[in-house]
Amino acid sequence: MEYLSTRNKKLSFNFKEIFLRGLAPEGGLFIPKNIKRYNKSEIQKLSKLSYTDLAIEIIFEFCNPEINKNILRNLIKKSYKDFNKKEVIDIKKLGNINLIELYHGPTLAFKDIAMQVLGNMYDELNISSSNKINIVVATSGDTGSAAIAALNDRKNINVFVLHPHNKISKIQRKIMTTIGSSNVYNIAIKGTFDDCQKIVKEMFADNTFREKINMSGVNSINWARIVCQIVYYFYSYFKFNNKKVNFVVPTGNFGDVFAGYVAKKMGLPIDKLIVATNENDILERVINTGEYKPGKVKPSLSPSMDVQISSNFERLLFYVLNEDDKKVLRFMNDLKSKGSFSLNQEQIDIIKEDFSAKKINDDETVEIIKKFSNDYGFIIDPHTATAVGASKVIKDNSEILVLGTAHPYKFLETVKMATSQEIETPKQIEHLMDKKEKYDILENKTTDIKNYILEKLS
Ligand SMILES: *Cc1c(COP(=O)(O)O)cnc(C)c1O
Repeated sequence: MEYLSTRNKKLSFNFKEIFLRGLAPEGGLFIPKNIKRYNKSEIQKLSKLSYTDLAIEIIFEFCNPEINKNILRNLIKKSYKDFNKKEVIDIKKLGNINLIELYHGPTLAFKDIAMQVLGNMYDELNISSSNKINIVVATSGDTGSAAIAALNDRKNINVFVLHPHNKISKIQRKIMTTIGSSNVYNIAIKGTFDDCQKIVKEMFADNTFREKINMSGVNSINWARIVCQIVYYFYSYFKFNNKKVNFVVPTGNFGDVFAGYVAKKMGLPIDKLIVATNENDILERVINTGEYKPGKVKPSLSPSMDVQISSNFERLLFYVLNEDDKKVLRFMNDLKSKGSFSLNQEQIDIIKEDFSAKKINDDETVEIIKKFSNDYGFIIDPHTATAVGASKVIKDNSEILVLGTAHPYKFLETVKMATSQEIETPKQIEHLMDKKEKYDILENKTTDIKNYILEKLS
C-alpha cells in the first residue's frame, strides 16, 4: 500500500517505511493514498468472522504487500493469545448503553489492542535485525505501559518512555516502572503530556539525531496503531447489524475516534461518532465552533485525555480540506505562528456530518461513575465515564456503543472516591504491586532528553 504525507502528497512511502518512521518528514502525518471501500456483500462476509480473523482481513488491506498474509495471520494470533477474553473484546448491555470493553489486554487499557500487534510487527518486518532500534514514546499513562508490555525484552530494541511527572495515576506509573527490563527506560518529565509529545516530535524532526539513534515511534500518530483500532468498530458494529449505530469515544489525541472515521470511509454504515472530552476540550471546541486553539493542559480525573494538541486531528483536516496538502500545511503554519486556526462554516458542517462532541468535567465524571454503579452495579473508569456522559447528545432511539477504554482498577483512587467500593486487582497486574519502581526525573528540555538517551546508548 502506498502512503503520502498530509502536508506533502508528492512524497510516497510503503508500509514498512511509515511503520518505522511514525512521523512524516516536515512534520506531516502519513495517510494511505487510497482507502479500500468494501461493498455490501464484502461487509456481509466480514460480519461472520471471529475477532482475529477480522483483524487479519482489515489490517492486511493496509500492509499488503510488505507483510504477507500468512505472516500476518501468525502475528495477529500471537498478539491476542494472552488477552483475558478469547474474542479480545467484550460487549455488555447496561441500560441503554452497549459497553464495548476494550481493556482485557496485559495493561488494562485499549492501547494494548494495537500495541501488541506493533510489537510483533517490529520482529516480522525484520526492522531490528541489523540495526538496533530506539523507540521514543510520549505517554499520558496508557500508551507507555502498553508499549513497554509489547516491547520489553525484545532483541535489538530499546524503549524510552516519557511521562508527565506526577500527572498520571499511581497504577499507570507502577505498570510502567516496575518492569525491570534492561531495554526499557522510564523518564518523568517536569511538564505535561503535551510537553512530552512536543519533545518526541522535535526529536523526530531532527534528522541527524533521528538517524544517529535509528529512532522509531509508537505514539498514536503511528498509522499502524490506527489500523489495528479500526477492527473493533467493525466487530462491534456487526453485533447490531441493520440498526442505526452511534459510537461514543473518550478522546485525547484523536487516534481512537479517527479509526472509527476510517471504518466509516471503508463502508461501515456508522451513523455518528461522538467525541467525548474532559475539560481539555479543544476537540469539542473545534467541532462545535471551528476554532482550533490549544490552551494550557488542565490535569483531570481522566489523565489519558489531558491533551490540548490533538495530533491526529490533522488527518481529519486533510479530508475536510478535500485532501489539499497545501491547505493543511497553511493551517498548520498558522497554528505554529498564531497559536490557532479557524474552520469556516462549510468545513464545520462537513465535520458535523460524521461527528458530534461533548465535554464532561470532573464533577460530572464522578457523578456518572457513581450513578452507573448505583443503576447497574457496574464500575466504569473515568475515561469511559466521559463517554457515557457524552452519549446524552444522542436523542433518537439508535444503538449507543460506548468505547470502554480502561479497566477501572487503573484509576482506583477516583473510582473509590465516586463509589466507595473496592475493586479486585485484575490478574494481569497482581504480581507487580510490591515490585520496586525505577524511573528518572528530567527537566522539560529536548536537549536534556537527547543527552540522556545518547548517554544510555554509549
Ligand atoms: C489514550 C486513551 C484515551 C484517548 O485515546 P486517543 O486515541 O488519544 O484519543 C482514552 N481513554 C484511555 C483510557 C486512554 O488510555
